Amino acid sequence: MSSDCLFCKIIKGDIPGTIVYRDEQVTAFRDINPAAPTHVLIVPNKHIESVNMLIVDDEPLIGHLFIAAKKIAAQEGIAEDGYRLVVNTNAHAGQTVFHIHLHLIGGAPLKLQMG
Ligand code: AMP
Ligand code: ZN
Repeated sequence: MSSDCLFCKIIKGDIPGTIVYRDEQVTAFRDINPAAPTHVLIVPNKHIESVNMLIVDDEPLIGHLFIAAKKIAAQEGIAEDGYRLVVNTNAHAGQTVFHIHLHLIGGAPLKLQMG
């Protein structure tokens, strides 16, 4: 938990968020500026700044993040049509919130935007 981190505050309930899924390891809430009809951010409850800061002990947690993504995609009704999972890291990828998160984006055909 980091006291000046936006996503830690949403996880704690200090800042409002539209929570769509929560368990003991992750919290998922709707992106405030959605890039598609469904845009959910899946966030570990543990504060980790970015992929660069992952340690070997985080391996099960990152697996759990993907299992949560699969469940939320089904819950949102977009599993069959398809969706994109994205993790931005640092400046060149445009990371703006330094608490690692998986973007789950779908609900309509997505334009390829890989660079
Ligand atoms: P990234 O650019 O990968 O760091 O993604 C950060 C995401 O957080 C962006 O898509 C923002 O729209 C989203 N975001 C910023 N503030 C909030 C907030 N208060 N609640 C929900 N999503 C947010
Ligand atoms: Zn945090």
